[in-house]
Amino acid sequence: MNFRQFVRNINNKYGPTLCRARCRDGHLCKRTVALGRIRCPNHGGLSTGPNTYEGIQRIKAANRKRWKDYREAKASVSVSSDTVTF
Ligand SMILES: [Zn+2]
Repeated sequence: MNFRQFVRNINNKYGPTLCRARCRDGHLCKRTVALGRIRCPNHGGLSTGPNTYEGIQRIKAANRKRWKDYREAKASVSVSSDTVTF
């Protein structure tokens, strides 16, 4: 069970909870989530995700690129921390 499934089970069992997404001004969203979802309608709680094959492939490519950039950034940080001498 991943985090999203865990939260959905909690929401279905105990009723609607707070969205708690990060708002633009920094505070956590206090709106209740849509039933069976983890976010309120303002933060994508009603979204069904990509529906077409092209849309799914586009999301997959974007996620691969994001993880690749993340790993490269993480690797570069570890290399730079190794070169620091005290
Ligand atoms: Zn929200």
